Amino acid sequence: RKRLGYARYDASYDTETENHGRLSLTGELRQAIARNELVLYYQPRLDLASGEITGVEALVRWQHPERGFVPPDQFIPFAEQTGCIRDITQWVIGRAFEQGARWRAAGLALAVSINLSARDLLGPELPRRFAELLASHGASPHWFLLEITESAIVDDPVRALETVTRLHEMGFSLSIDDFGTGYSSLAQLKRLPVAELKIDKSFVMDMARDPDDMTIVRSVIDLAHNMGLSVVAEGVETDEVRELLYDMGCDYLQGYHICKPLPAEQLEGWLARGAA
Ligand code: C2E
Ligand code: CA
Ligand code: CA
Ligand code: CA
Repeated sequence: RKRLGYARYDASYDTETENHGRLSLTGELRQAIARNELVLYYQPRLDLASGEITGVEALVRWQHPERGFVPPDQFIPFAEQTGCIRDITQWVIGRAFEQGARWRAAGLALAVSINLSARDLLGPELPRRFAELLASHGASPHWFLLEITESAIVDDPVRALETVTRLHEMGFSLSIDDFGTGYSSLAQLKRLPVAELKIDKSFVMDMARDPDDMTIVRSVIDLAHNMGLSVVAEGVETDEVRELLYDMGCDYLQGYHICKPLPAEQLEGWLARGAA
């Protein structure tokens, strides 16, 4: 029954009811926050040098009362178009700061990565909100990495650079997400105060079989290191890929081969079992 409801909703997207559908999804998303339907999952990242889990990426999920589990790919792009992403980002930041502070208090020094959208970088309000939320949760900016995509920079380089610089000055580390899929120039990259590049999973997943992907991954690792940046590979699904990345000197790995994203409590159990 749930599935049917969902399929019907999707089908109406491309018809004249599209506008109405959009409005109702926007409304539902706003309510989702008020009704506590959003949840953060955390995916561990493995530090290849130490063999330890030193960080996690916060990934949002929507537990809809009728539609069930809605993955972020099905509502984040939409929230970005409608501007509702600002509310979602605020919610994500608040939860991630709270969780980060809780882990530190428990002696767990996990760096928490948070995804930001292009739209988040366009106004001056984000750094202000960050400061307020840090204070209210007793969190330090040094516990967090902010992931931004290349497209976020390309869309409006001047304003994005302003915001990113401000966040960097506050003490946050910055990471370029989905690296290689956008069109940022190396000149732009050079001006950004980033600490790491994250190689998109589309290059990583098949690199053991696809020589072009392998070349791209190796080049990005070398580029990052030559610029003094760390490099993360996402989408590591096999032991073979893990070994290849180890040999190439990649710094951090993320992927189903290590662990899928988990709710905080399950992640703590997984860490306690020392499963990495
Ligand atoms: P992303 O930031 O590139 O996140 C990586 C995605 O790859 C996640 O999907 C993760 O679950 C998935 N993944 C991890 N390991 C593997 C693997 O080994 N194989 C494969 N095939 N996939 C893997 P997820 O959680 O569905 O998120 C999708 C996208 O939604 C994210 O891509 C990000 O762009 C966006 N997103 C998620 N949470 C947030 C958020 O809080 N804020 C914003 N602005 N965007 C978010
Ligand atoms: Ca990400
Ligand atoms: Ca990606
Ligand atoms: Ca992405």
